[in-house]
Amino acid sequence: MRFDTLIRNGTIVTATDTYAADLGINGDKISAIAAKLPAENCSRIIDAAGRYIMPGGIDVHTHLDMPFGGTTSADDFETGTIAAAFGGTTTLIDFAIQYKGQTLRHAFDAWMKKADGKAVADYAFHCIITDLGTAQLEEMGQLVHEGVSSFKLFMAYPGVFMLDDASIFRAMSQAAKHGGLICMHAENGGAIDVIVQRALAEGKRAPKYHALTRPTTAEAEATSRAIALAEMAGAPVYIVHLSCNEALEKVREARDRSLPVYAETCPQYLFLSLDNFDVPGFEGAKYVFTPPLREKWHQEKLWQGLARDTLQVVSTDHCPFCFKEQKELGIDDFTKIPNGGPGIEHRLSLIYTGGVHGKRFSVNRFVELVSTAPAKLFGLYPKKGTIAIGADADLVVFDPNEHQVISAKTHHMRVDYSMFEGIHTTGAPQIVFSRGRTVIENGKFVGRPGAGQFVRRQTYSGPPS
Ligand SMILES: [Zn+2]
Repeated sequence: MRFDTLIRNGTIVTATDTYAADLGINGDKISAIAAKLPAENCSRIIDAAGRYIMPGGIDVHTHLDMPFGGTTSADDFETGTIAAAFGGTTTLIDFAIQYKGQTLRHAFDAWMKKADGKAVADYAFHCIITDLGTAQLEEMGQLVHEGVSSFKLFMAYPGVFMLDDASIFRAMSQAAKHGGLICMHAENGGAIDVIVQRALAEGKRAPKYHALTRPTTAEAEATSRAIALAEMAGAPVYIVHLSCNEALEKVREARDRSLPVYAETCPQYLFLSLDNFDVPGFEGAKYVFTPPLREKWHQEKLWQGLARDTLQVVSTDHCPFCFKEQKELGIDDFTKIPNGGPGIEHRLSLIYTGGVHGKRFSVNRFVELVSTAPAKLFGLYPKKGTIAIGADADLVVFDPNEHQVISAKTHHMRVDYSMFEGIHTTGAPQIVFSRGRTVIENGKFVGRPGAGQFVRRQTYSGPPS
């Protein structure tokens, strides 16, 4: 028995177990786990004493190299996957956007090109459908069978991304037939647009009005409607970036009725609030994303939702725009501020800090939220999302005691500010492996752009636990 890499003396953590063991890697797979493994002839030996060995993080909601509002998100598949890897995330599911009149195939091909030769870790795609004719409906099944087994639909942004209820219902029915999963941006876009126009007419143009014109009721109503449409279609539904207690209640009610309804939240809704708009001048634009920040009391409700499995996943909705020149496009009008914030790098450290260090849930639940449940829901498991013999060696050696302070001065995302500037975290990834290759070590990126591969995902196969 010999290994390309032997990780000794660590504590393996999965969604269900915590135990001391050695772990051997050969090629791109985990090949052995035992109390003691022989060190002879191993090419590389890592001593992980005092540290956790976790499955690599899976971020199922990112927007790399994405056109929006006349500009493009600042991280591409190279800088974005490098920043992700620094933060312990080794698989992303990004969004390929179908624009009006296009085939779904066109969207998939376009995003495959964006990632090709650039990604340093593995990636997959959801397909955003903005125009659903008969041809695209037919294409959904083909895409599922090529590994694009989830679709995102919008109930917001009328005239741009929004689909009507009939189209949503058709898409859900078709997804259910082929084993696809519908991801829903749940906000009532029609009502929001009227509120936005009223605000502009009253001369309310500052960044905070982006948040104040998107009420929690608009999110709760759309969440409830998405659940009802999915129930009628006999389909599962996954609510993306859930931000408030009112929407959380709708998901809880549905899950209490045993409906296959799932939801994610993101670190910004757990750590930031409307209070972040109390900054000088145009600085509030740093916090303009959708759904918007909410009153602070929602944060604890969302943490409870994560602890009690009302929410199954933490993703980032990473969609970075620089403050200079990009966010500034909306300096006189909040509706022109590109929507999105940078977060791909700090998901694990923030959720570990608030969840495990903050004693809201166990380290096993942490692994489940950031890796295992996303893998199971989105057809990546057991290749990814756990530590088991034969699984991809996507691994994080994680120091539960390392203290860091988040800052744009030290982060690796290609963006000139941090939403989490000055926040102290406890727990950080130290060594990160993508399919057996070291990508992060000693605070440095040591991987290779283009080494990341597209992952064909399996069909939706039921609840993650
Ligand atoms: Zn998004």
